[in-house]
Amino acid sequence: MSDLLPFNSTMIRDLFTPFPPQQEPDDTPGYWAVLQGNSLVVSAESQQALPSGVPLPIVTVSRTEPLKIGLWQGKPLRAIRIAVDSLLPAGYEALPFQGGDTRLDNTLATIAGRAAQIMHWEQRSRFCSHCGGELARIPDGWGKRCPTCGDEHFPHIHPCIIVLVRRGTELLLIRNAAWSVGRFSLVAGFLDFGESLEECVQREVREEAGIEVANIRYVGSQCWPFPSQQMIGFLADYAGGEVRPDGVEVVEADWFPEDALPLSPGGKRSISRWIIDTFRESD
Ligand SMILES: [Zn+2]
Repeated sequence: MSDLLPFNSTMIRDLFTPFPPQQEPDDTPGYWAVLQGNSLVVSAESQQALPSGVPLPIVTVSRTEPLKIGLWQGKPLRAIRIAVDSLLPAGYEALPFQGGDTRLDNTLATIAGRAAQIMHWEQRSRFCSHCGGELARIPDGWGKRCPTCGDEHFPHIHPCIIVLVRRGTELLLIRNAAWSVGRFSLVAGFLDFGESLEECVQREVREEAGIEVANIRYVGSQCWPFPSQQMIGFLADYAGGEVRPDGVEVVEADWFPEDALPLSPGGKRSISRWIIDTFRESD
């Protein structure tokens, strides 16, 4: 079940209680989600625990004001982003929560992703995109309101389809131009104006691999906080055409036997791996 994938809420339901942002002064001790690039700072000495205490036990230059985002193991959790070149004191280390490095526990990767998605929205919702006025927080939520023009703004979460296309026991995989040689994944792309999700699947497969698909069905979804996507997973059956990469965004595309697949990017935390592992065998 895709709810159990990293970055979805179910992964941390027993550890984390979210609540709306609170920035008022508060000295209640708690935990810290300290973000440094796409890494999370953890205590190296106590089996990957989040740093705890008030003030932040890491003396460094922060790039943002701390923001309380919920309760972690019953105590306040504050998120903060620090400079990528900040030196961490002894006893702490920054471990990636994106990519193939899976040293960080999945629950910590998930809370890091949540904090990163929230901080991204906070940093990009300071001014009104309509009139340029400074935005004010709408109480009890993540929305913002413009006192100048009255527009309201809510978190931007971008829908993106990802699809496993099957032809018998073969799977369609593509290599994006940005990926290293030998690494493949599923066709994926952002929803466009005027499209249903199924129409988006058909268009992306046509654009990236040059073929037609049929029998499109939803299989699961995943929050993908890099910086703020919603990955919506599908299966589809080959329906015609010759595989032909577009040569620009996609430099390789081909059918692979389901028992002899190449490396895939995104690592074990991605819905692409989950879809392949769960649905590689034809019905
Ligand atoms: Zn405005």
